[in-house]
Amino acid sequence: MSPLKTAREIPIGGMIVEPGNSLNYHTGSWASKQPRLDIAKCTGCAFCMNYCPDDCIKSGQVDGQFRATGIKYEYCKGCGVCVAVCKFDALKME
Ligand code: SF4
Ligand code: SF4
Repeated sequence: MSPLKTAREIPIGGMIVEPGNSLNYHTGSWASKQPRLDIAKCTGCAFCMNYCPDDCIKSGQVDGQFRATGIKYEYCKGCGVCVAVCKFDALKME
């Protein structure tokens, strides 16, 4: 099986025939919009990281402070949950 399948390459109906296979599917290709992160506005509250259903928010140290540092666009389906829970306007959909 090749890695990172697109929506057109997965089984019809979205059947999961291989449990534990999420890393093999390039679900980011499903998104019509995706979140953009403004690191300067991020406070590191981690709400986006805790609520993202696909664990797509990258994090790390920025100038010695814990912050969101990016989005795993290859897996982000563009659901917008991270934007909805960010209280600091650090995320927006585009
Ligand atoms: S919810 Fe917003 S402020 Fe909090 S870590 Fe995520 S991007 Fe940063
Ligand atoms: S749009 Fe959805 S899948 Fe993408 S990073 Fe935000 S919460 Fe996660």
